[in-house]
Amino acid sequence: MDSEACQRGFYRHSLETKHCLKCPPNSLSNESGATSCSCNAGFYRAPSEGQNIACTRPPSAPRNVSFSLIGTQLSLWWQPPSDHGGRKDVTYTVFCHRCHFLSCEPCEAGVVFSPSASGLTKPAVDVDGLEAYTNYTFAVEAHNGVSGMGPAPQRTAPAVWVAVGHAAPVTVSQFILTQRDDSSLSVSWLAPRQRSRTSVEYEVMFFEKGEEARYTVKHLLEPNVTLTDLQPDTAYLLRVRSITPLGPGPYSPDQEFRTLPPDTGALSGGVIVSIIFGVLLFIGLLMGLLIFRRKQARRRQARPDYNTSGFDREKVWLKPYVDLQPYDDPSRGVLEFTKELDVSCVTMENVIGEGEFGEVYRGSLRLPGKERIVVAIKTLKSTYSDSQWWNFLREATIMGQFNHPNIVRLEGVVTKRRPMMIITEYMENGALDTFLRENEEKFSPVQLVSMLQGIASGMTYLSEHNYVHRDLAARNILVTRSLQCKVSDFGLSRILENDAEGTYETKGGKIPIRWTAPEAIAHRIFTSASDVWSFGIVMWEVLSFGDKPYGGMTNQE
Ligand code: ATP
Repeated sequence: MDSEACQRGFYRHSLETKHCLKCPPNSLSNESGATSCSCNAGFYRAPSEGQNIACTRPPSAPRNVSFSLIGTQLSLWWQPPSDHGGRKDVTYTVFCHRCHFLSCEPCEAGVVFSPSASGLTKPAVDVDGLEAYTNYTFAVEAHNGVSGMGPAPQRTAPAVWVAVGHAAPVTVSQFILTQRDDSSLSVSWLAPRQRSRTSVEYEVMFFEKGEEARYTVKHLLEPNVTLTDLQPDTAYLLRVRSITPLGPGPYSPDQEFRTLPPDTGALSGGVIVSIIFGVLLFIGLLMGLLIFRRKQARRRQARPDYNTSGFDREKVWLKPYVDLQPYDDPSRGVLEFTKELDVSCVTMENVIGEGEFGEVYRGSLRLPGKERIVVAIKTLKSTYSDSQWWNFLREATIMGQFNHPNIVRLEGVVTKRRPMMIITEYMENGALDTFLRENEEKFSPVQLVSMLQGIASGMTYLSEHNYVHRDLAARNILVTRSLQCKVSDFGLSRILENDAEGTYETKGGKIPIRWTAPEAIAHRIFTSASDVWSFGIVMWEVLSFGDKPYGGMTNQE
């Protein structure tokens, strides 16, 4: 019996082996007299494993990948696979990608995993070296000794999406004076480490030393600036911060640079000397005028301010926006603050919304010598009233004065042809309230908070320019393809015929009652503080994926 051939399901490794042995788990011998058992489909033996070892399979995917993000320090953890494949040697590999819009590429060497990115035996890893303002995905794959042996694909847990905000300060540093003369200074600095293609701009604030209250602010796309019209032989202080779609980083420490003394050495001769005298006299007059003005300004500043909080102090130095007065001719304001576009450069494609003044189209704009860009085109319907015409143009003049990554950018207007048009950058995901309702639960809290950071940044900019929005609500925030949120709707005038949902109350003016601060409802006092109240309501809208504020109540309640 012992030397007989083994039955199916049994094997004898060699003829010296006395007994037939049962095939180990997940293996089978199909013929009698087998000297080995082959693994069932989907099961394998590692090369080092003998015939007496059970066949095993790759593990299933890890489960419930979670993370916590503090600043740019990320901790990832997950639950082990529900099926270890019959083995005890499960390890994990973490894959990192950085994403811009929908395209992702593997993370660069600067991203460091502790203890490592692969061969992990514990279901957790710490990740360092992530960049601020950058989106990442992390996928976790489980392996064991037979992973990759068969044609079966590796099973990876669904990737988690991590949006790193501006918790890590993005500072600019290493200022270099590249050029100077008696009236100008050119300075460059080191840009923050920014490998992503997200837009960064720089805000430069400068003032004459000792004259901090009289500062000027410039916004730039490149990490350098040339300050012109400066006083000769005068020290200037300059501070710079970077602004990304999620908001500004901290200001750099003040940098001091001095203009050169006036250049007098090259001139000679009686006539030239008299010219110099003339010029000096003119400069003297000019300086006298400047000193007089500065004294006046100082006197003005010495007067007690009705509000001395840091918030309002900041407002003093930023250029307030110019609002049209009811008696102003808006076409003049339009000339001053917007660019009239040739209608032949504009192509209207399809209707994307219905605004207060008429239809809103998606279209394109091709300016001479520039690439075609996608734009949104707000039109003024042909049956417009005087007040609609006035408000339409007013919105354009207001928008045209702003320049911030979280404010919808005005490309230009068409006022010389009918229909009149306001042309703005195109925001692929449309209005934030609808977008969130259509994508309920699809975004992580980190992504939602990033959206709010963007809105807060845009609103800070508006308040710094003395602009009170009065109608901050998710419906008036537009969203780009990369989820960047931008404040829009600078119209303020509300014609209620389209207000089917009763968003706006009419009594004594039009008020979006659920978004408006109590003092603004009761006394019509609208300030940046009441905009902050509205921002609180927007936070609620965003975190609830577009629910109606005070949903169960009437406006009256
Ligand atoms: P409302 O009274 O509804 O605020 P409005 O005249 O201010 O009207 P908008 O709200 O600006 O008009 O535009 C109406 C709709 O058109 C928006 O809800 C949005 O869906 C779409 N839209 C407007 N501007 C843009 C844009 N720049 N990019 C993409 N979609 C836009």
